[in-house]
Amino acid sequence: MLDDFSLEQNIAYKTLINSIKNDKLSHAYLIETNGYSKALDFAIAFSKYLLCPNNYSNNKKCDKCMQCTSIDKNEFIELKIIDPDGQWIKKSQLEELQEEFSKKSIVGNKKVYIINKAEKLNASSANSLLKFLEEPEEGIIAILITENLYQVLSTIVSRCQVISLKNKLNLTNLSTNEKIAHYISNNVDDIDQYIKNEENFEKLKKVLEFIKYYEENHTNTIIYINKLWHDYFKEKDDIYNAFTVILLFYKDILNIKLNKNIEIFNDYIEILQNIEEKNTIDTITAKINVIMNLRETIKFNVNPNMLMDKFIIELERCEEHD
Ligand SMILES: [Zn+2]
Repeated sequence: MLDDFSLEQNIAYKTLINSIKNDKLSHAYLIETNGYSKALDFAIAFSKYLLCPNNYSNNKKCDKCMQCTSIDKNEFIELKIIDPDGQWIKKSQLEELQEEFSKKSIVGNKKVYIINKAEKLNASSANSLLKFLEEPEEGIIAILITENLYQVLSTIVSRCQVISLKNKLNLTNLSTNEKIAHYISNNVDDIDQYIKNEENFEKLKKVLEFIKYYEENHTNTIIYINKLWHDYFKEKDDIYNAFTVILLFYKDILNIKLNKNIEIFNDYIEILQNIEEKNTIDTITAKINVIMNLRETIKFNVNPNMLMDKFIIELERCEEHD
């Protein structure tokens, strides 16, 4: 039920409710999760609100209509949820959707499709979706969900109304290292372990030294990469976590650039500001993309030397566009 989210996601909730009440429904929404774990539930609750003839948003309004009942059973054919098939969302999944949705509506006057993990659209499936979004059909509503807005093709983003969810975690009063522990660990015990292990704090400092060095010296960083990186980050997990820290760091640089609050690196404002001054918004978002993409490859067997050389070269390419 959409009303379940009225407190936790009050802004997103109000935006969507008002868009229906004022008859200003968008034909495509892009939900940015910001780490909120119930984003898919939120999207389904909104779909239900759209599809139920009684605009069901709480227990009082719906007498268990056919739509609500079948959505609960995951059987409603006019609500389709697409998840990545393996590593990517495939073109064939989009084609199947278009085929099914081209048939006349049997039940109501609306059809909804949800694309979960929209950052997993590859070039060809993104293209397919784009065509679908460019020629919106009456009554078809798209809801895309993504963990990372900067990884979704900008041409797709520009065709959607972006709904930003709030992360439930309130980390405001924690140190940078403690905040990072929340992003890297999977559960409460892991968070404690992470914070107690002083090595992690040392690693955080090494990551920041690396970023600082790169931003000052660019491709010359490759010459000193052993001392800057390989001496400290050897295991796959360490490298992956270090990339997560780099990602969070550049997101905070972007936050400053956009006059938003710093989320994680409050203890390192000086370094943030220094780098922020040297980069444009485009450069920062391009760098965030590079970091996200390379971080994905670390899960596979990637050679650490090649990874870092590639990383620096690709970061450098982001600068060339200025
Ligand atoms: Zn209903």
